[in-house]
Amino acid sequence: MSEEYRAALRDLARIIKDVAWGDSERVRDLFRYTGDPSVPPLVAELAEQIGTIIVQKEVREFRLESLIEDLFATRKALALARRDPLTGLPNRAMFEELLGKACASALEHGTGLALMLVDLDKFKDVNDTLGHAAGDELLALCAARLRECVGEPGILGRLGGDEFAVLFVDQREDETLRAGEAILESLRRPFALKDGDVSVSASVGVAFRSPDASAPARLLKNADVAMYRAKAEGRNRLWRYRPLAFPNPS
Ligand code: GH3
Ligand code: MG
Repeated sequence: MSEEYRAALRDLARIIKDVAWGDSERVRDLFRYTGDPSVPPLVAELAEQIGTIIVQKEVREFRLESLIEDLFATRKALALARRDPLTGLPNRAMFEELLGKACASALEHGTGLALMLVDLDKFKDVNDTLGHAAGDELLALCAARLRECVGEPGILGRLGGDEFAVLFVDQREDETLRAGEAILESLRRPFALKDGDVSVSASVGVAFRSPDASAPARLLKNADVAMYRAKAEGRNRLWRYRPLAFPNPS
């Protein structure tokens, strides 16, 4: 091998080493050979091929990085779309998804399931007298109190407006009813808003899963009927859905 070849190959090896150590600017030097008549043609060809492989690898890495960034951004957007921004709780869409899964699991394992709807009483009055921002503040504080009451066994969500929902999975009926009473008591305590204290109450409707009512839509409907009955009975109370007391036409 001629000295000219040896020198060109040594030069090429140095560039490749620099690139391998992270000096990406040196990739250009690989292509410099292509148009340099003093470089032996075989070395120039080798340099061009190595340069092309490195550039292709960098493009692939860049695409992969952009793809990963896109995936993270999409995942974050999807997670946000399933959360209520005011309270951070699962929104209706996410809660209904959780309800669907809980119903399927309860059916498969024959376990108990209860759905509780909690709607604030005369909440519009708070908006009307103190303003929408105070109403928002109150909703966020209610969510925090509900979280405390519900604890580990409950799955909490905000279905919209002043309506919250709780799922109790495989919990004894008396315990669920006690949790409902605890929620009522907790929401009756005054809330300290920025502009002063405010007191509210809530109406709670509970529906337990039964062989006749095991589908998510049925459970939601039954809990809704019970909650409206609690409103009709004077608000500020819990009502349990009972099929005999509420005959269903269907
Ligand atoms: P009821 O005792 O029958 O439950 O009557 P209510 O005044 O509590 O009113 P209702 O539950 O029928 O409706 C809830 C109201 O909450 C409707 C709307 O004016 C208000 N609202 C809905 N979403 C929001 C919100 O995000 N922020 C605030 N501040 N108010 C809301
Ligand atoms: Mg209400």
